[in-house]
Amino acid sequence: MTVANHCRVIIRGGRVATSADTYRADVSIEDGRIIAIGEGLDERGHEVIDATGCFVMPGGVDPHTHFESPTETPSGDDFTSGTAAAAAGGTTTVIEFCSQLPGTTIRDALDLGHEKLARARPYVDVGFHMIVSDLDYPQAREDLADLCAKGVTSYKVFMAMEPIRLDDTAILDVMHSAVANGALVMVHAENGAMIEGLTQAARKAGHVSPVWHARTRPPLTETEAVSRAIALARVADAPLYLVHLTLGASLTAVSNARREGASVWGEVCTQHLVIDESYLTRTNGELFVFTPPPRAKDEQRRLWEGIRNGIPSVFASDHAAWTLQQKREGAQLDFTQIPNGGPGAENRMSMIYHRGVRTGTISINEFVSLTSTNAARLFGLYPKKGTIAAGSDGDIVVWNPDRRRVFSAATEQSRAGYSFYEDQEVVGAPEHVLRRGELLVTGGRFVAREPHGEFLPRRKFDRAGIAESYRH
Ligand code: MN
Repeated sequence: MTVANHCRVIIRGGRVATSADTYRADVSIEDGRIIAIGEGLDERGHEVIDATGCFVMPGGVDPHTHFESPTETPSGDDFTSGTAAAAAGGTTTVIEFCSQLPGTTIRDALDLGHEKLARARPYVDVGFHMIVSDLDYPQAREDLADLCAKGVTSYKVFMAMEPIRLDDTAILDVMHSAVANGALVMVHAENGAMIEGLTQAARKAGHVSPVWHARTRPPLTETEAVSRAIALARVADAPLYLVHLTLGASLTAVSNARREGASVWGEVCTQHLVIDESYLTRTNGELFVFTPPPRAKDEQRRLWEGIRNGIPSVFASDHAAWTLQQKREGAQLDFTQIPNGGPGAENRMSMIYHRGVRTGTISINEFVSLTSTNAARLFGLYPKKGTIAAGSDGDIVVWNPDRRRVFSAATEQSRAGYSFYEDQEVVGAPEHVLRRGELLVTGGRFVAREPHGEFLPRRKFDRAGIAESYRH
């Protein structure tokens, strides 16, 4: 069965779950948008999708993907395979990082992002963030302002990671521009200077194995940077989004800052909830080199505690599908040469459903908030994305709470060649996935043939609206 964009679709018999409510209703979609929600909608002239026993939820929004590498060396995925992975996991919107490298312009980085998107078309809708690493050229300020006019309304800065890391003065500068232009600042919070020092010492002592990736980035390198990022944002009076927090102490810092009135939001990623530092000592330890690194097992419990208390706002994948070969080649040199990251877009929603909703740690509505609604709000996509309402895009995941899935690279859409979660079984997975009314997944299988996803220009950061609508 295929459902084209212009078709009329009714999703019948499910329970609609949004960030706020759960209720029994049918949902009808026409020309890619939701036009009616209610019981007993007229089915004549519609394709009917049976959602009996399932939740009908807004398609996932994953605001942290690196499907296209910023470097010369491409990773395993491109926008086509990466968004196939996203869709197969229930995600219908991603926000990808374009990356300005030092010595190049922001404008060129944006052009390159669009070129890549045109070259490998996406299955789901794609927005862009911009990694800003160099404001030392004449048009930099105009380029930053121009991003927002072009629908790229978030800037990301790195406090670690050569050669793109910025010092505090430069970060403050980006934050001031963000306030002026209506952008949200995302920060990768690790203390780059400390990590550099620890790495030099480790190499000097002859340490080369993957576990040294974690040993040279101990928890204090994150918590120090988190507290400094929050201080910088408060000095600039800028809204702040902290990517991939991995420690209970980081979540506590976010919670304390919010209590004091700061506009700070935190993100947690799948891998930090599941993979602990012992994975780095396995024979294939290089696969689990991602940044920040896997932490002690205890931290996973603290992260869940934070999730249960509603501290992180967004659950993301940080998908970066370096291949098995790229990982191994790096490991043959030393831990600093292993490309950071792995695939995860396809696993994100099922993993947190299985470990969060099924265990009673979070409700189905909190699941929707964390995997879809909050990111749509923070990144200027709501209510087009992130909810089920008349007028919203027909982006829907019909979620089967009983569907079993065993994660494996052999059946996943990413071209990485490995899965972080090989052989792990989860219960709860997409039954059907529709992006603007087009069926991408049915019966749990990815069935889309043509990639019809589009670039998504986003609205500016809506500070007042978010303060009002946001519950945490
Ligand atoms: Mn990332």
